Amino acid sequence: MKILSDTLIYNTTADTDIIDITPEVAERVRGSGIEQGFVNLFVPGSTGALTTIEFESGAISDLKDAIERMAPKDIPYAHNLRWGDGNGYSHVRAALLGPSLQVPIIAGNLALGTWQQIVLCDFDNRPRQRRVLLQLVGEV
Ligand code: ZN
Repeated sequence: MKILSDTLIYNTTADTDIIDITPEVAERVRGSGIEQGFVNLFVPGSTGALTTIEFESGAISDLKDAIERMAPKDIPYAHNLRWGDGNGYSHVRAALLGPSLQVPIIAGNLALGTWQQIVLCDFDNRPRQRRVLLQLVGEV
């Protein structure tokens, strides 16, 4: 059993930036030498999230529209009254998608679907530098 920890860093833009992080994760999986196991991904911070989607402009636009319908930017949020930082919608969006993701490693590769990419979502109302923590676990 091998367990490796790694960190990926991304500079994001404000308001629902969605970044395909699959190439970097795949590179870390290959570099780990793990043949069978999984990679756990986690984004620290309460306005970031991780999910998978087909990373093409139509699907990304649809996802952004769905998120806007679920937690609209321009409605009152109790968080904004309490803290005044104006990102109540960012926290709710991040909570609904969730901060972590687990992907199986099979035969040394991520077991993703052909049209399925891993995406980092940043919902904050200002640009951020985001860390994505990886824990690669499995048999070499
Ligand atoms: Zn806040």
